[in-house]
Amino acid sequence: MNEKNTECQKIKPEKEYTHLMELIDNLPYIVMTLLGAAVLFLSIQTTPSRWILAGSYVAYGLAGTFWILLFVCPYCHFFDTRSCPCGYGQISAKIRKVQDQSLFNRKFKTHISVIVPLWIIPLVAGIISLSKNFTSLLLIVVVFFAVDAFIVLPLVSRIYGCAHCPQKATCPWMKTKNQPALSEQE
Ligand code: SF4
Repeated sequence: MNEKNTECQKIKPEKEYTHLMELIDNLPYIVMTLLGAAVLFLSIQTTPSRWILAGSYVAYGLAGTFWILLFVCPYCHFFDTRSCPCGYGQISAKIRKVQDQSLFNRKFKTHISVIVPLWIIPLVAGIISLSKNFTSLLLIVVVFFAVDAFIVLPLVSRIYGCAHCPQKATCPWMKTKNQPALSEQE
């Protein structure tokens, strides 16, 4: 066990994930992408604009996944192992070589911003559309999107996936009030 592991009292032994477990870990992101596309579709009244916008959001979700695969995973402790909870680490190893793991935090903080708008765009579009042209269907889809994106996805990630990560004590995603700020550790 390395020094980082001893800092974290909840660290568990690394475990290997089956394809079913990887699918479970990916489900909240897949659901968020589909619900986000549905929000955009329902927020726009005209065709083909609504199809183009919804399709573009799904394409953005896919591109975001590949962005993380290309620019974050090669720096991760779980790169090219079955201990990556979502399976990205193995896919990434097919297209990139391993990089310096000490740069993981920096790369994570830099590149996670690329996918943050996925959480914001449908919410903003849905709220604006509801304020102008309220429908019960749109309200329901926006609420489901918000619950999945802001509650289910972070919970699954923290409890199910990242709970086993030896980098969690310093990972920006897992940083909590109980852990020292990154600036204090660097
Ligand atoms: S744990 Fe996260 S950063 Fe690490 S390989 Fe898997 S998806 Fe990439």
